[in-house]
Amino acid sequence: MINFDEITKVLQENNNFLITSHINLDGDGIGSELALYFILKKLNKKPIILNQDRLSKIYDFLPGSDKVNYLEDNCINPKSIDVGIVLDCSNIERIGKTYEIFKNIKTIINIDHHKSNENFGNLNYVDYSASSVGEIIYELIKSIDTDLLDEKISTCLFTAIITDTGSFRYSNVSSKTFGIASHLTYNGIKPHLIANNIYNRNTYPGLKLLGEALLTLEINETSYVSWLIITRKMLNDTKANDEDIEGIIDVATTLNNVEISILFRETKDNKIKVSFRSKGNFNVNKFAGKFKGGGHPNAAGCLCSGKLDEIKEKILSELLNDIKHLGYENKNKYFNNRKDNY
Ligand code: 5GP
Ligand code: MN
Repeated sequence: MINFDEITKVLQENNNFLITSHINLDGDGIGSELALYFILKKLNKKPIILNQDRLSKIYDFLPGSDKVNYLEDNCINPKSIDVGIVLDCSNIERIGKTYEIFKNIKTIINIDHHKSNENFGNLNYVDYSASSVGEIIYELIKSIDTDLLDEKISTCLFTAIITDTGSFRYSNVSSKTFGIASHLTYNGIKPHLIANNIYNRNTYPGLKLLGEALLTLEINETSYVSWLIITRKMLNDTKANDEDIEGIIDVATTLNNVEISILFRETKDNKIKVSFRSKGNFNVNKFAGKFKGGGHPNAAGCLCSGKLDEIKEKILSELLNDIKHLGYENKNKYFNNRKDNY
């Protein structure tokens, strides 16, 4: 893998940067984009952030969130860009339709923390020991000049870290993660206000949608797997938006004894988006790979074409067969038994 000096050299030797991240942008995607944007500004460069999808309202408090451009409203000439920077994407398809612009940019820097990263850039910095891309951007900034870190950048990086670690609850959290989070708090950020903005601004339709989704909750006979469904009808009936779906799968994961949870949902463009979460050793990234998806060992997803019921049956039967094959009757051997661990 390349080191930060090689990235810094490309940052210093060029002027015009186009930054993007994945479709359905999350806190790590936007937090890392904005932190990098502010750093490049401080280095007197010309960065532009361009995303396919609009930012979820929960991130509108982030400094610079009004500076994000969307593909729909913008026509960026790739010839005016020296370097494209892709954050938090395991493969280039994850950037969605912005690929039409990025494919014509000569130099692409790929910065990511997915184990399944395909090293699609001209420069690839992939560290899958990092909890989030935010953690990597922090290290990059530190390697350039720690004094560059200010309150705005720290707020963005803290957001990236808390959202990708489930507020420090997931297995990707290391002592390094806490060290970075601690350092960020020295720059005047208010962790409780950041958390309030992200987690305590549910909408009424959003909570109604959660209620509808929970009515579909099912578990398998051993209670190791739980699943939920969200249809377009449920979104229409509750007047909820797609962004209100964020976090609903995590509620299914909180069930005692459940090791794997799945959310099947209909997207605006008639596809089925499947999200997977696991609490223990079952690798959902590997499992999602069977359906051309990916992600992390404990959080992954895939996008399927077809009818929701048929896709649900196919994925569930494959999963239940897989865990049977693993010998899931002997839970302690294959899944984390948290009672013993703590
Ligand atoms: P979510 O279920 O919240 O959309 O995504 C969870 C994790 O899985 C994220 O790290 C995301 O990058 C990854 N992921 C979700 N959907 C896909 C997909 O269709 N393809 C790939 N490669 N990764 C995905
Ligand atoms: Mn991430």
